[in-house]
Parts: sequence; C-alpha cells; structure tokens
Amino acid sequence: MRKAHASTGATEAREISKPDEQWREELTPLQYAVLRQAHTERPFTGEYVHNHSDGSYRCAGCGTKLFSSDAKFDSGTGWPSFDEPAVAEAVELRPDNSLFMRRTEVVCRRCGGHLGHVFNDGPTTTGQRYCINSCSLAFEPAAAGQEQGGGEAGQPGPADS
Ligand code: FE
Repeated sequence: MRKAHASTGATEAREISKPDEQWREELTPLQYAVLRQAHTERPFTGEYVHNHSDGSYRCAGCGTKLFSSDAKFDSGTGWPSFDEPAVAEAVELRPDNSLFMRRTEVVCRRCGGHLGHVFNDGPTTTGQRYCINSCSLAFEPAAAGQEQGGGEAGQPGPADS
C-alpha cells in the first residue's frame, strides 16, 4: 500500500527502500510511527534528550550517520536538538504544511525516514535548530581514545599531516 498523502519526491528512489511490512517488523512500534508515518514522540520521553556523551547519532532506520554530539545543545523542548547535521547531504529538507503550520521536515536521505523538523531559531552561530525525535536516532558512543569521530572500529584512517 502506498502512502496516502503523496508529496513531491515521494517516488524518488531511495538507496534503502523496503516494503512497509518489513519496516514494521524491524522497527519498534514507536519508531515505525515516527520514521515511517511522521508522527512525533512525546517530549521529554526520548532516551537521548539529556544525553551529553560524545559520539554519533545514526538513523535508527538505516544506520546512516546524521548528527554529531558536537552539534547537540539543550533546547529545553524535550527533543534532542542539533545546530547542524554531521553531513549536510545525509538529510533532506522539505516543506511540511500539515497541522496548520509551516514547518520544514527533516528526512533521512538514504531511507526516507522522518526525523523531525528544523527551525530558524537556533541559539548558535548556525541559527538552526534541528528538533529530532529521539527514537529515530541510534547513538553510537565515541570510542575511547579515538581522536576523530565517525571512523569505523578497526579501520585506520588516512594519514594526514
Ligand atoms: Fe535512514
């Protein structure tokens, strides 16, 4: 069954594309509601709202690295908030005029999963506030002693000098 509300780009091929039933099996009910149906988790309920550890936040749907702990700040909204994505191309922004609001939806480009919304009232120099559902993310703690984040364990990075 296709999405009831067709939006521009809905037919765009995703690198990760699975039947709806498969997403439903792989994700928790809450993750499915958020990632695949664009619902919003209740504020202050997500496990990463107050997470201050160093590391990477990956898409809970496909594992793509989306945000770094360096960009995380306490917005007081009850959702994990970031002032920029880890890789700009990893997220896709699109207009969302549902619920009588004009917002900008944030979607994982690789799997099309709904992550949250981005607002222009961020407190840092970027001016952006990525308001992201905690359950759409999977936190990966930085390896102890690892200088650069994002590297895979055991993979030596390129020598730079
Ligand atoms: Fe994804």
